Amino acid sequence: MLDFNLKVTRYLMKAHQWDLFFAHFWGTDRAQHELWHLFDEQHPNHDRDEAALHAPRLKGFYSMLDEGLARMVEDAGGANVLIASDHGFGPIHRFFSINIWLMERGYLRLRNDPLSAFKRFWFSIGFTPVLFYRLSMALGLARHRLAGGFHSRQRMQMLLNRFFLSLENVDWSRTVAYSRGNYGQIYINVKGREPFGCVSEGAQYESIRQEIKDELLATTHPLTGEQLFDRVYLREEIYEGPYVEEAPDLVFLPKDMKNKALGTLDFTSNRFVFPVHGNSGDHRMEGILLGIGDAFKQDHHFGSLSILDVAPTVLHLLGLSVPRQMDGRVADSILKRDFVDQNPVRYSDEQLLGRARGSALSREASDEIRRRLEGIGYVG
Ligand SMILES: [Zn+2]
Repeated sequence: MLDFNLKVTRYLMKAHQWDLFFAHFWGTDRAQHELWHLFDEQHPNHDRDEAALHAPRLKGFYSMLDEGLARMVEDAGGANVLIASDHGFGPIHRFFSINIWLMERGYLRLRNDPLSAFKRFWFSIGFTPVLFYRLSMALGLARHRLAGGFHSRQRMQMLLNRFFLSLENVDWSRTVAYSRGNYGQIYINVKGREPFGCVSEGAQYESIRQEIKDELLATTHPLTGEQLFDRVYLREEIYEGPYVEEAPDLVFLPKDMKNKALGTLDFTSNRFVFPVHGNSGDHRMEGILLGIGDAFKQDHHFGSLSILDVAPTVLHLLGLSVPRQMDGRVADSILKRDFVDQNPVRYSDEQLLGRARGSALSREASDEIRRRLEGIGYVG
């Protein structure tokens, strides 16, 4: 995939005249999710034999990308180049199942019909997707997990949710909150908004949200006693603008990012905290940003910048004005003094949000994007 991407990218750079060229390389993300433990000797899933066998190939992947980037920078012929990651990476040791946490505290209730009771029984004795994963690894089926790609993985998730306990077995009339997605998203079962909502907007909604927030902050690891979550936000605390209402009602991050909320399946394990499987690495809040070209200061450490600053900075480097409504700001601290003096930042009052609403994407394209985001756990 990397070889193909690099070839196509370099071909397009030569074949077309461009003002802005954008290329995305995803392989580093996949490799670090799946294979972090190969290099990390402290990781509980590190295996010396496996590392000896596969780590050199992973190193080869990075060398190839590094070499490819160098060629692309050359091909850019002196254009200013920004290399940005959308996040950093680090190890993960444990997963959380947030729906189990909600169920243990009575926020989420299961139905009493025979099928739900049957599934619940098997679930309670450990017949869970985690067990299924272990068995499939032992039987050698898991090699299909990667080969099949996203769509087969999504089909598998749908199948597993049908087979094991899932949100379909939830008694919505008695459930006040549930979780979907892999990054700590909790939704309140709001009347009028959710199909079987039972929480009234206003005072009841606010008090349940606050109660769950307080309980998350007070939650400790069942074995070590350490606090698990220290960043729990009501949606309006971190999002702003006209689409806040589409965000999850609560969003949180684990205190130690070695722990990760897992919500690809509705009820992954019958325990709230359990060892990682499948993945050994995951995202971190700090990523990288490199600037190469005449506009940038040389041998300068950028310090702390936001990923939101990348787009306005790119607009400015293109000689365009930056809409005031745009998030982020031009990162002039990374630009050479004389460049800044000769090119003062210009702002415009162009309205961005109205356009985003009447999206130019077709219905099918929007659905496809949504499906893909759901497949990697970004959308609940
Ligand atoms: Zn990722």
